[in-house]
Amino acid sequence: MKPLRIKGGRVIDPANRLDEVCDVLVRDGKIGAASPAPGDEAEVIDARGKIVVPGLIDMHVHLREPGRSDQETIETGTRCAARGGFTSVVCMPNTSPTADNTSTIAFIKQRAAAAGCVNVFPTGAITRGLKGEELAPIGSLKRAGVVAITDDGSCVQNNDLMRRAVEYAKMFELPVLDHCQDYNLTAGGVAHEGYWSAALGLQGWPAAGEDVIVARDVLLAELTDWCIHCQHVSSARAVGLIREATQRGVKISAEVTPHHFTLTDEYLKNYDSNFKMNPPLRTARDRDALLAGLADGTIQCIASDHAPHCTHEKEVEFDIAPFGIIGLETELALSLELVRKKVLTLPQLVEKFTVNPARLLRLDKGTLSPGADADITIIDPDRQWTYDVGKSASKSRNSPFHGWDLQGKAVMTIVDGKIVWREERAG
Ligand SMILES: [Zn+2]
Repeated sequence: MKPLRIKGGRVIDPANRLDEVCDVLVRDGKIGAASPAPGDEAEVIDARGKIVVPGLIDMHVHLREPGRSDQETIETGTRCAARGGFTSVVCMPNTSPTADNTSTIAFIKQRAAAAGCVNVFPTGAITRGLKGEELAPIGSLKRAGVVAITDDGSCVQNNDLMRRAVEYAKMFELPVLDHCQDYNLTAGGVAHEGYWSAALGLQGWPAAGEDVIVARDVLLAELTDWCIHCQHVSSARAVGLIREATQRGVKISAEVTPHHFTLTDEYLKNYDSNFKMNPPLRTARDRDALLAGLADGTIQCIASDHAPHCTHEKEVEFDIAPFGIIGLETELALSLELVRKKVLTLPQLVEKFTVNPARLLRLDKGTLSPGADADITIIDPDRQWTYDVGKSASKSRNSPFHGWDLQGKAVMTIVDGKIVWREERAG
């Protein structure tokens, strides 16, 4: 493999508190020492005017394989990730069969090695079949290589079972990721319960349906002294609960999606099912609380919850359409908007995609330290572009951001020293 010299970019590596214009060298799939060996014939990549960061990590994606390769495969999902600037993705276990057993984890790892163009880190289920009744074999899942356990898409309702799960996870040093949803409070809900659900005649999904589980998780993280991470938080109260608990030293953390910090429930007024998510889009007040949570560090990570669905599944009445949208290709640009709005500095934003998820999941990733795997993303922060979902690398087309004018784009994605995505400039 030819060495690379990424020249003249603004290099931001929050793990090393680095933010300066310098070169980055890559040799044998690793970040090289600062000065090249004599006679080194490196390929030079001109990064002047660009930002060079550790390869971005998305800790919440659905690759749909095994089981729903009509929606996405590990091959198409990772290609989508590479285009979006992501070198590592963490995939959710709600596949078919469920990733609640070692052979499904082995299958995912094997497919990722054979067909994936970025690193794929699987998670395992908390309960068998995500049914919330019986614990999955957490120790075996750990040995099979999962980086966390979660019932994402579902939520363990039995608080005692959840407590046992967290205790087992602690024994195996696995973080627990939770999709926070109380089934009774949210039964039949399709939209945030409030003005718009009432005006549009849609069944409401109150913020309390999320908040009670976040509160439960705070208490269980405290009781077990172990890490629970709240996935895709969307409500103001959830952010407040996590902030208060974090300040007391409770091992609780959170992620937010670009759609929740960008959109509100007002977007539902055309009944477009591409705005139907779980949890639902909420009010401007909730969105502002998410921004405040990002700014003060209560929310450490940004993740897409990339959730592909076939067009025929989404093109039905709002009530019966599935929840979720694809997000890997628009995630970075929507997040860079936070820097332009001065919610975050650029290094703070990079942190939420690199060192923070890496630390949380104990991944040996997220830094440009010499000797680290050469996973690198090069970003053009000024690039203006329009998202055309018809040209997505995903097999699915369910994005609410089709046709949006965006700014900022990954122009090169490097995994283990290999260029897996390079934007061909049209003129
Ligand atoms: Zn979820």
